[in-house]
Amino acid sequence: MENKTGHNFMRLEFAARSENEGFARIAVASFLSRLDITLEEMEEIKTVVSEAVTNAIIHGYEGDENGTVMIMTTYTPSFIEIIVEDHGIGIANLEEARQPLFTTKPELERSGMGFTIMENFMDQMEVETEINRGTRIRLVKNLIKKEALCN
Ligand code: ATP
Ligand code: MG
Repeated sequence: MENKTGHNFMRLEFAARSENEGFARIAVASFLSRLDITLEEMEEIKTVVSEAVTNAIIHGYEGDENGTVMIMTTYTPSFIEIIVEDHGIGIANLEEARQPLFTTKPELERSGMGFTIMENFMDQMEVETEINRGTRIRLVKNLIKKEALCN
C-alpha cells in the first residue's frame, strides 16, 4: 500500500480478541509518542482507541475471535486521525446507537457510553456502517499550536 497522504501513518491489523485491547491502545500511544501532546490528550486518545476496539470485538464480531480489527493512525502538525474498522455485523440504526446510554448489550453490563465518550474526547467523529459488512469509525483530534497559546 502506498502512502498517498504524505503524512506519517501506521496501519495495524489484529485478531478480534479482548486480550488485544491493551495492545491496540499502547500501539497507538507509542506511535504518537513523538508528538508534543499533553498527558491528558494522550489519555483521551488511549480511551477512544479502547472504546472503538472494544465495540468492534464485542458488538461487531459478537465475540467471534476469527474476526480482525484494523487501526490506521495518521498525524500531521495540526491533527491526529485514527480509523478503527471491523468487518462485522454493522449497526442497524446508527442514530440510535450514537445516543448516550443506548446499548444493545445491557446483559454484558455495557453502559452505552462508548460513542458519547469518543465524540466528547475528539474533535470529529464519523461513522460508516453497513449491515453484515462492518463498521468504520474515523476520529480526529486537532492539535493546538502551543506557541500560539504562550503569546
Ligand atoms: P459501552 O461502550 O458503554 O460499554 P456500548 O458499547 O453498548 O456500551 P456504545 O459504545 O456507545 O455503547 O455503542 C452503542 C451501540 O452501538 C452498541 O450497544 C452496539 O449496538 C452498537 N455498536 C457500536 N459499535 C459497533 C460495531 N463496531 N459493530 C456493531 N455494532 C456496534
Ligand atoms: Mg462501547
